[in-house]
Amino acid sequence: MDKAALAAALGSPAPYGQSQFAFVRGNAFEARVKADGGTELMRLLHEHLGGAGEAPHGIAVPDLTAAGPEGRAARTALALREATEAGGWALLDHPMLALEVAGSPAYLEPDAVAVHPDGTWTVVEIKSFPMVDGSADAAKVGAAARQSAVYVLALERIAERTEGAEVGHRVLLVCPKDFSNLPTASVVDVRKQRAVTRRQLTRLTRIEDIAATLPPGAGFDPECPRPQLEAAVESVGAAYAPECLAACELAFHCRAKARAAGAVEALGRSVRGELGGLTTVGEVLAAAAGKEGDPADPTVAALRRAAALRAEALAGGPACR
Ligand code: SF4
Repeated sequence: MDKAALAAALGSPAPYGQSQFAFVRGNAFEARVKADGGTELMRLLHEHLGGAGEAPHGIAVPDLTAAGPEGRAARTALALREATEAGGWALLDHPMLALEVAGSPAYLEPDAVAVHPDGTWTVVEIKSFPMVDGSADAAKVGAAARQSAVYVLALERIAERTEGAEVGHRVLLVCPKDFSNLPTASVVDVRKQRAVTRRQLTRLTRIEDIAATLPPGAGFDPECPRPQLEAAVESVGAAYAPECLAACELAFHCRAKARAAGAVEALGRSVRGELGGLTTVGEVLAAAAGKEGDPADPTVAALRRAAALRAEALAGGPACR
């Protein structure tokens, strides 16, 4: 489903999204990196991952146009096989990869995949955040590594059926050098992220199983009337946490619901963990005030102690001795 459209239809549009300026800047940088048949990009690739061989020349840039994501994924797989067989350098610009997620195909589009003469396939990610003195923001590099690991997994499915092909676990991250718009690159080893993602994918509940738990007739079409949509979204369990704000289009909707229900999850996962069996703000306040809760429960005892200290601080003197 289109979660951004769903969030807007629910009256809580997505809290994030790339600004138009950043989008244009990112596209211009990518175009610059890939200009001239990818010469600069392949130079960077060879410099960082090319081995002892000659610098790339006569780079093949196959046409990957086809109808629909399925057609583009099939075209990409064919181009990868042909480039590997040809034994030269090739650059696949915005290939389309397919990966089964929870029993359904998901289509992924890396910025580029390079084919080396020895049959190695390397994922290339082009980002617009700067690399200053050879290093970039660790959180952004981590996110790029997780994203690239998914591409590596998808490429491995094709490589299994391609003689002589091997997917590199070191991906090339290309960013603007310092604060210029000149490209620079570094190599990121994604073996750990790949292993984690692979494990997570095997544990995902199949989409059919999730759909089977929904009430009959539930649908998420943003064109549906709002009460109907709200009921459909309500029928799916949600565990809102502040981290959702940076990752999910429905975050504002789920946050409003969590706050309205007084759910302690809205205060953060660590607070939630500290509060043990108390699941609402009302329960926590009642426990702190001594109206509810077992005094032998360490959480309840800690809350009462904190409430006493607070009262003492507000009164300007000791509340309990
Ligand atoms: S709980 Fe978080 S991840 Fe799940 S739908 Fe709501 S905002 Fe998205």
